Formats: sequence, C-alpha cells, structure tokens
Amino acid sequence: MPSDVTHSPKTSEASRRALALIVDGTVSSRADLRTQLGISASTASSLVRRLLDTGVIEEVVDGPSTGGRRPARLQVIQNDAAWLVAELGGGHLRLGVSTAQSTLLRVRECRLDIADGPAATFTALRENWEQLLEDLPELQILSAAIALPGPVSAQTNELIAPARMPGWHGVRIVDELQEALNIPVHVENDARAAALGEFIARQESIPDLIYVKAGTGIGAGLISRGQLIHGGSGVAGDITHVPVPGAEGRQCSCGRTGCLETVASGAAIRRELVDQELEVSSIRDVIDLAVTFQPAATTAVRRSGKQLGTALSSLVNFLNPSAVIIGGALSGVDAYVAAVRSAIYDSSLAMTTQHLLIETTTAGSDAALIGLTRIARRSAPLPVPHDSATRSASAPPSTIHRPAGGTPT
Ligand SMILES: [Zn+2]
Repeated sequence: MPSDVTHSPKTSEASRRALALIVDGTVSSRADLRTQLGISASTASSLVRRLLDTGVIEEVVDGPSTGGRRPARLQVIQNDAAWLVAELGGGHLRLGVSTAQSTLLRVRECRLDIADGPAATFTALRENWEQLLEDLPELQILSAAIALPGPVSAQTNELIAPARMPGWHGVRIVDELQEALNIPVHVENDARAAALGEFIARQESIPDLIYVKAGTGIGAGLISRGQLIHGGSGVAGDITHVPVPGAEGRQCSCGRTGCLETVASGAAIRRELVDQELEVSSIRDVIDLAVTFQPAATTAVRRSGKQLGTALSSLVNFLNPSAVIIGGALSGVDAYVAAVRSAIYDSSLAMTTQHLLIETTTAGSDAALIGLTRIARRSAPLPVPHDSATRSASAPPSTIHRPAGGTPT
C-alpha cells in the first residue's frame, strides 16, 4: 500500500522527533510513540513505516508469547554506537560506557577531589574514559553526559555559583568539556540525573516520584507524569537550601544560614560527631559508626533523618507524589531511612501518604549514570536516514570522535 504521508517539512519534523525518542529510549513500541506524541495509531504507523524505509530503525519481535501477537520493539540500527556517562562527586568520579545493547557496559569509580578544579577533573575524565575504551575500539562514541554536584541550569547547561565546587565558578563547563573530549557534551545536576535513572530503573512504573540524594550534601529531583522537572529557570530540585527549624544560625555553604544542608546532610552529621571528639574524616566513617549503632552516631543520624523527612513532608503535601525514593550514601543507614519515613508520615496529610511508597533506591550507585545515558542519547547527533528525502535540514552531521581526541576530522 503506498504511503499517504508526503515528505513535507512537517512530517520530516515528526519523523525526526519520533527517531529522537527511539534513540534516547523513551519510545520502544508503536504504542509508546502514540502516547509520547499524542498521535493516532495510523499516524504512528505511518511514521514507523517511514523510519523503517530509511533503514535507521528496525522492529524486532522478542517479547513473550501470550497466545496473541507478540509485542514488537522499535530500536535503532546502530550496533556500534556508544555514549559516555560520568558522575562527579565531591571526592569521587564514577563513570561508564553505554551502548546500544547495554545501558552500562563498563563502570568504574575512582577518587577525585573536585576542589582540585576543572582542569584536573577534565584530565581525569578523559584518561579514565580512554582506559575504559581501550579494548572497545569498534565503538563509535556519539556524545557524553556528566552529572555535577552543584546547581546546573537546564536552560544554559552551565553551573550556577556552585557552593560545593570551589574553583568552578564561571567555568564554561560544556564548551571546555566539548573541547577536551571532541564530542557533544551535556551536563545535569547529579540528583536530577539520579531521579531520572531511578524512574528508568523501575521500568518507568512510577510516573510521579521525588528522589532524594542524601550523601555528603543533599539534592533532589522530581519526576512528574514521567518527565524530569527542571522548573522555570532550570534549577528545580535544590531542596538543600530550604530553611528548616533547628538550623537557625548555622552557616551554610550557600552563604546564608539555617538551611537543611546544615543539619541533615552527611557533612552536618560528620561535623556534629567531630564536635563530640569522635574520629570521623568522611561520610564513610559516619556510616560505619551508624551501622554499628555507635550511640552518638545513631542519635545524630536519626535527628538528621527526621529533619529531612519534615522538610520533605511539605513537598509530599503539595505535590502528592506516588513515591519518595531515598538514594545516596545515607540510604544505606537503616536508622536514617526509618527517621525520614516516620517524619514524612508524622508531618504529611493522611490523604497524601495513604498510598505513598517510601523506599530506598533500586538503581543504587548507578542511578545517575542510568539517567545520564538517556540524557547523552538525547544530546547525540541523530543517525542520518539513508533516504535523503526524509533527512531533516537541521539534522546534525554524524561525525564522531573518540574522546582520545587524536583524530578530529
Ligand atoms: Zn544553604
């Protein structure tokens, strides 16, 4: 049957959007495409047929047979494509490689002091990725996505006055990274990337969730109706500088006083234990004491968890999420999680907590990397259709450089 879709700019744009959604993993079936684009079954079918004709995607049947037709999966024919992802913490770097076949093919973590500044960090990123890629010469690296432990504007893709990243203020991070790596780079706040990763790791089954990263600092991200929320100026989720009772007069890294971070973060708990002359030099030490029920550590962890839970209850009342997911290093301390949970129940309306799920992360330490994989795929050049009639005028060239940077064309 001949296609009734003409190759107008409008349908080319629809094809490009459909392809972008298949590339980043948001869409894996015709039904997904209908939902995401709000189009009819016949329009979705026409779009898929056009993309199949161009040779950039394929439709494979590999689902379980339920007696009827097996579900068909849409995927990009790009077997050698790969994306680089990395999460920068205050004292560590976690990075991985994502491919068309595997969300995370290789993951490694190493120590890195972010206060050493951008140049040392970029070098560490490049060297670690080069090592990960050493025995994967066949891969074509399309783009990279990096999560940062500071406020990243989704509008400008830049850091904004990062209190916990001394030496980084005013750094044109995306430009410099693209220059260092020779591929398109996208940056995102670490907690927001992890919120997206948690949503994906739970098979996108909880479309309204709050994710809290409770580690040395505290960050959060909101998924609403299946979308990561960035807010009016692109910095949504920064719960750490909410003023809370009990923190009055405490100096915060943001320059103000009384923020949640000064009482509920791993750094705050560590300071409290140091004041009690306990030997704690890192959040790891705090966790080791707390999980062995050292009395002062247990008390501090419970109080901090309660303050986080109380702050979260305002969000629970206002947003009515289906789940609050707790990630970050402190999610491994049962007493902290229990205190967060009980404070949310104590301070929220019963109608908002009746069906509320409060759990620790399922994505674990890879939450941000999983979210970044989707973000990297979004920022990569789309594969160029073989049929030139469907090629969007704005489609970027698929020129790819490996981050070794030796052979830019
Ligand atoms: Zn603050």
